[in-house]
Amino acid sequence: MDLSVVIPCYNEEESLSETCRRVKAACDSAPVDSYEIILINDGSKDGTFAIMEKLWAQDKGIVIVDLSRNYGHQIALTAGLFHARGEYIFILDADLQDPPELLTPMLERARAGVDVVYGQRQIRDGETLFKLGSAAAFYRILSWLSDIPIPENVGDFRLMSRRVLDQFLAMPEHQRFIRGMIAWIGFRQEAFPYKRDPRFAGSTKYPLHKLLQFALDAISGFSIKPLRISMVFAIFGTFLAFCLGLLAIWTYFGHRTVAGWASLACIITFFSSLQLICIGVIGEYIGRTYIEVKDRPLFIVKTLLREDGKAA
Ligand code: UDP
Ligand code: MG
Repeated sequence: MDLSVVIPCYNEEESLSETCRRVKAACDSAPVDSYEIILINDGSKDGTFAIMEKLWAQDKGIVIVDLSRNYGHQIALTAGLFHARGEYIFILDADLQDPPELLTPMLERARAGVDVVYGQRQIRDGETLFKLGSAAAFYRILSWLSDIPIPENVGDFRLMSRRVLDQFLAMPEHQRFIRGMIAWIGFRQEAFPYKRDPRFAGSTKYPLHKLLQFALDAISGFSIKPLRISMVFAIFGTFLAFCLGLLAIWTYFGHRTVAGWASLACIITFFSSLQLICIGVIGEYIGRTYIEVKDRPLFIVKTLLREDGKAA
């Protein structure tokens, strides 16, 4: 198999048929002999799965991975990647924000020896100012915290080689930030500038709380700097406490002690909040360790529609 196209879908009934049509056209005109299109149904609540069944009935070159519930974009994508058989793997969203027609030029780069050709957004049509601003802030914080460089303005839209995918599939973590994991793998990676279109239909499946969760996964998955920063807080706090202690002794012997409840209240609240922050940071990492230690399967497949019925 030359190429696997992997598309995670959650409530995408309005876009799916059109996405499939455009992806198929892009694959047909690309220089590949054989390809498969893997659609993952991430527990959609609308008619997405029914459309997938229909698409499968028309074309057995499609693979449908129907998950047992909604696992979120990153796990859905992982589930698709586990089923890919191609020498090259092309990942895109179901909403046509990433143009499938870029397959051919990206494939050209890959055949020239680039292992990961990742789409880098130049212009983002149809995104809110808030999303643009928060994305910029997120990437700034992440690149400061993370030990490996994670390119900015890059989503999961990319073409990668089989050897990168094999390394990726050997990474067992549950809290996944896929673009960072792939950056971590290394080999030859190259940006491919492109213009991101507005969503074809429907609305974003990433509300604010999911974005925040995603940001936390990214930061805690790629950095232990927050733990170190709480250590810096602690050292700073101890130094401040020492100075305040000296001040207290000095005022005591100078018989200049006053009622002083305001300063006391300030000191107490300052240090208790500092402690709470540090405990919170530690708790976040312990919680994440707990989730990893349980080592549950990443996802459960309810139905697999594939011509030979085999997983990979
Ligand atoms: N998606 C998914 N599971 C989810 C949320 C999203 O499989 O729980 C899919 C969705 O169908 C789309 C892709 O992930 O194909 C990206 O989602 P979306 O377009 O909503 O994100 P945005 O482009 O707004 O960041
Ligand atoms: Mg989208």
